[in-house]
Amino acid sequence: MFINKRGDIVLKKIIIIILLLLILSGGLLAWKYFYHKHKVIVIGLDGATWKFLNPLMKEHKLPNFEKIMKNAAYGELKTTKPTKSAVLWTSIATGKKMEKHGIVDWTYVSEDAKAKIQRVQLITGKHRTAATIWEILGKKNYTVGVVNWWVTYPATPVNGFLISDRLRTAIIKPSIANEKNLVYPPELINELKPYLLKPANTIPIMMKYGFETYSQEKVEQFFSPSKFFRNMFSQIHLYVGHDQMTANWSLHMLRKKQPDFFGVVMRITDVYAHLGWKFIDKQYLEDTVPQIKLDSIRSKDEAVRHKAFKLIHELDQKYAEVMLPAYKFADDFLGEVMSIADKNTTIIIISDHGFMWHGGGYDHNPMIGHSYPDEPPRGIIIMYGKDVIPGKIENANIYNITPTILYAFNEPLARDMDGKAIKEAFSDPIFQKRGDKRIASYGVGPVSSKAVPTDAAEKEMMEDLKSLGYVQ
Ligand SMILES: [Zn+2]
Repeated sequence: MFINKRGDIVLKKIIIIILLLLILSGGLLAWKYFYHKHKVIVIGLDGATWKFLNPLMKEHKLPNFEKIMKNAAYGELKTTKPTKSAVLWTSIATGKKMEKHGIVDWTYVSEDAKAKIQRVQLITGKHRTAATIWEILGKKNYTVGVVNWWVTYPATPVNGFLISDRLRTAIIKPSIANEKNLVYPPELINELKPYLLKPANTIPIMMKYGFETYSQEKVEQFFSPSKFFRNMFSQIHLYVGHDQMTANWSLHMLRKKQPDFFGVVMRITDVYAHLGWKFIDKQYLEDTVPQIKLDSIRSKDEAVRHKAFKLIHELDQKYAEVMLPAYKFADDFLGEVMSIADKNTTIIIISDHGFMWHGGGYDHNPMIGHSYPDEPPRGIIIMYGKDVIPGKIENANIYNITPTILYAFNEPLARDMDGKAIKEAFSDPIFQKRGDKRIASYGVGPVSSKAVPTDAAEKEMMEDLKSLGYVQ
């Protein structure tokens, strides 16, 4: 091809411009890559508490927690009433109080005006009136992944994947996995099905960790005459199975997708703490519990109070031994996640509340008149990663989690959120220079109004929550 002198100059200019553009875009890409390199993994352990973690770590029974704690920022996570996991995990995911996010209970009453009937139904993500952290980040082009987070049904579109908290009910009825809206994107279900467990598959897992398994003798030994506990005991293998599937789905998706943000909620640490009271050494109970007078907890005499709390502290340590299977399960999962997470990942372990002895066992929703003090038992927070300063985190609460994740990604907080970022936990000079960027609001989530309820999944989940006494 012939090019005259003038054309030659034009061509050279064009080539130079193209080269400059290439360098510039390459630089932009590289900058974007490094800028976006930070990742966050949130491991939610429903009801996990330092009361049980500390004694078990001290005895070297939780090697991964022990390892992470050597370089972690950690503390208690203040929570709020009602201590209902559906409400609290939504507050954690939105940074907002329940009045703002709209999830105020496990259930709601639906009305069919035509048929003049009212039904009690499970609350869904459709009732949420605030954007979640994964919706906020997804809109900013970060890739996200969410598994088994409370109130994530129906699975609405996200910039990544979402496995709702109802898919696990397929353990009891495999056909549930074919229902709509359980996962996003819908075709993801084909990859998840191989990890579905049947109730019988859970027995080796129960034995591996030392969970108490259901048998007629044990029912007689532990549970008569309480029908409520008997019912719960007969389901324990299902709860273990739920979490094993949640763990397997999480690890599969983490390895495959490596999203910028990942969040998962496990619940065995909650369920087993409700149930385990029946497995505590009987002799110990007979010797100790009568000495703990609830009145003495509130006594004006400090010595009396001190003695009561000392006994409760001992009881907590004893109960921690009973809780070992649930915490060991969580510890194994943590170890797997640590082996997958790259060096730019901040791992945040949290619980929505703790547990407290209330006179006749352990609970997170103390009976009125029996609580001490009048605050729900606190959860935990552990932050770990190369950008985290090891040390104690003071005054953290459940509303701080979403702002902290936004801060980790260098994205602005919103003024309508009820918490602030836990900045003091980050060491990187880049982090410390970050100012207090805030926008007015991230608005509401892209909630779908056309979702079809999955009747079988809802029915199974309702049964599950009833057996725990969460839903009447
Ligand atoms: Zn909970």
